[in-house]
Amino acid sequence: MIKATIITIGDELLIGQTIDTNSAWIAQQLNILGIDVLRRVAVGDNYDDIYTAIDDEFAKANLLILTGGLGPTADDITKPLLCRYFNSKLVVNKQVEDRIMSIFQKRNLPMLERNLKQAEVPDNCEILPNSAGTAAGMWFEKDDKVLIALPGVPHEMKTIMQEHGLIKIAHTFISETILHKTMLTAGVGESFIAEKIADIEQELPPYIKLAYLPEYGMVRLRLTAKGQDEVALYSALNKYFNAIINRLGMIVIAHEDLTMPQLVVRELIQRKKTIALAESCTGGLLGHLLTQEPGASAAFIGSVVAYSNEIKTNILKVKASTIQTYGVVSEPTVREMVHGILQEYQTDYGIAISGVLGPGGGTDRVQVGTVCIAVGNNERKFTKTFKFDKDRTLNKDLAAKWHSYCCGNC
Ligand code: AMP
Ligand code: MG
Repeated sequence: MIKATIITIGDELLIGQTIDTNSAWIAQQLNILGIDVLRRVAVGDNYDDIYTAIDDEFAKANLLILTGGLGPTADDITKPLLCRYFNSKLVVNKQVEDRIMSIFQKRNLPMLERNLKQAEVPDNCEILPNSAGTAAGMWFEKDDKVLIALPGVPHEMKTIMQEHGLIKIAHTFISETILHKTMLTAGVGESFIAEKIADIEQELPPYIKLAYLPEYGMVRLRLTAKGQDEVALYSALNKYFNAIINRLGMIVIAHEDLTMPQLVVRELIQRKKTIALAESCTGGLLGHLLTQEPGASAAFIGSVVAYSNEIKTNILKVKASTIQTYGVVSEPTVREMVHGILQEYQTDYGIAISGVLGPGGGTDRVQVGTVCIAVGNNERKFTKTFKFDKDRTLNKDLAAKWHSYCCGNC
């Protein structure tokens, strides 16, 4: 049984200045490989604390992954510490040195002595090259156990893991085949899904596991099969995957592991359809989510961030009387906003969002957290009112992401 522990290093983690996203990401990747994470530990930039944490955790786990403390500043002490722990000394690694020099040359930046110091690595580790920065990853082996040290900058840590670390972990630790199949459902909660597929879940053989991964308005269902015979595994996995899809019917909106923006953009492109948005309370957040997807320009035409009533009436041609009669956060208003954006941008589909995010602005009729969303085309429009929370940031996020509920159901 492979057991992994993740140690994240840095004072900034302990005071809550930096949120530890590294260990969450690493844990997700290990989970996909079928490796259990025993513990996640955070320590400050203190020599003794880091040393003790490594010593304690290496006694219990056979894979230890460290992030942080590999930078060029005085608080970065992971490397000399690992030298002591593995009884080695720092030597200049030519490959890392060349890489650092080329980065500085390319960026036309003056190079300091301390930058070159990053080319020094313990002489008994294997380098995991960092194509995204200057601090190389390091792979140590001791008594059939592995310790990987990675830089703290999330983008660099991920690049090293994706290009080298995860592949090497799989080669070293995994002898079984692991297959995953994921589907995306929208509009109902995980307990409802669990009820609907209870008998299928009960029937799953011990080598197939089902994970419920809920998100806003959606639940991702992931089946994982582990074993030796890849063909048999694949066929069993498909059998149960299809049984769940058939049982859940309309609420399954993708047979792959996609995010909602990925799915929306992909579906629109495949169907050669276009979309425009009329965003009030979300201030362009939905547009941001869609434009994060490569190729979005083939489907997403543009938005009107109609934050004020004047923009709603002047640009989107919402009738002043509609706002007066029903309120600016109402289904009739978002319906007219969608109509307006469809006229303005001549797209196939439109989405409109208007809500009260809080903390102020609520009334007896429209409380904080009320968000109205309309989705539609020239023929049909669907509207829905959501009652979210009291937290402004959360409400904004939910308002932008819950279009999934509408999309999944329309
Ligand atoms: P370091 O490699 O310790 O110099 O870390 C460089 C930067 O990476 C820190 O200042 C943080 O902004 C970021 N960082 C370090 N550790 C983490 C972590 N566990 N999760 C997210 N960001 C991190
Ligand atoms: Mg640090």
